[in-house]
Amino acid sequence: MSIQLSYPVEVEKYLPEIIKKNYGKWVERKFHGPGIIEHVSETGDRVFTIKVALPPNARVSADTLEKFADLADKYGVGALRITMAGNVEFITTSLENALKIKEELEKLGFPVGGWGGALWGINTCTAFLTCQIAVVDAVSIGKAIGDALKPYFTGEIPLPAKLRIFISGCPSGCAGGIATDIAIVGMWGAPPRIREEVLPMCMPPPKALAKIPESQIFLVQVCPTGALTLRREGDKIKLTLIGEKCINCGRCKDNCDAFDYDPKDVGVAILVGGRMSNTGTGPRLARNLVPWIPANPPRYEEIVAIVKHVVEIWRQNAKPGERLGDFIERIGWPKFLEMVGVPKLAAEYMWMPDAARTYLLYRARGEVIFKGFRDAV
Ligand code: SF4
Ligand code: SF4
Repeated sequence: MSIQLSYPVEVEKYLPEIIKKNYGKWVERKFHGPGIIEHVSETGDRVFTIKVALPPNARVSADTLEKFADLADKYGVGALRITMAGNVEFITTSLENALKIKEELEKLGFPVGGWGGALWGINTCTAFLTCQIAVVDAVSIGKAIGDALKPYFTGEIPLPAKLRIFISGCPSGCAGGIATDIAIVGMWGAPPRIREEVLPMCMPPPKALAKIPESQIFLVQVCPTGALTLRREGDKIKLTLIGEKCINCGRCKDNCDAFDYDPKDVGVAILVGGRMSNTGTGPRLARNLVPWIPANPPRYEEIVAIVKHVVEIWRQNAKPGERLGDFIERIGWPKFLEMVGVPKLAAEYMWMPDAARTYLLYRARGEVIFKGFRDAV
């Protein structure tokens, strides 16, 4: 089989010999405990892949990369693969070397696991690491959840099916959005304050501004609920934010640094049951379970408790191979809420349709649901 020449990099040039030789010829696979998978080629060759979880946001130091590279050279085929879930995969040609790589990685403090019925990975955006509009520190939330869910990654506690978790520092969702089993999205708890002195930097130049109708000013248009209105007072402009209409989506802040939120009023929405794959009942967006709950660093006990609670309900009651969303669909949302421990809130959820922007547009109900959750879970 020839390699396509239109690839962005010269694939053939950089592939390990055994992968190049068996490109597209793999016919069989076998698991050897958590985190080690064997692939058999029609040529009779075999490779063993070892999956290791990286820190949140897949950040590693040059020092760690060097240690990984040494392991790949010593026991593997001299190459590493970074996965979409933010893990690293080592490849080797014998089970003995695969077990050695696993042992060495665990000695370095990196858990190995994450295939089949397991936690496959926790993705987070960069948030506080480099992003100026982050509501919460997605990375440290990822660490707290990862510590609590580690046994589900390493296979110590098997799960019914694949579990993926995305954590986004704000509703922009750079971490991968909400088509995932459990999505955690940073959300402000109150509308922003406008810094008048910075506002002109986000507006067209005065001459152009004079000719544009108020409703067509970009900053007014970005607000999805019409909470921002602009009126002219002589040659000056006045931007007003109507708090009751604001859903704290942060879109104005994404587009203009004149919007400031209270750093003490931060939280997250927790959504469940999404997926990207086309197996089972097909792809879907996660649905809002908790519209807003405060984010309390450093260990985020409330968020971690809810995530673990949901995973356990699914683990103990789902059929083998049933993803979280398929499980919820089979038993029905009211029954799921009963199992989560908030049956009295079912009526509130009736008003939250299964829609992409649910967690934004129905945030007003978030307070009611949060109180119900706080009392019940
Ligand atoms: S999801 Fe939000 S906080 Fe995270 S990197 Fe993207 S814009 Fe920044
Ligand atoms: S946070 Fe969202 S809803 Fe509120 S004013 Fe800004 S854009 Fe509008």
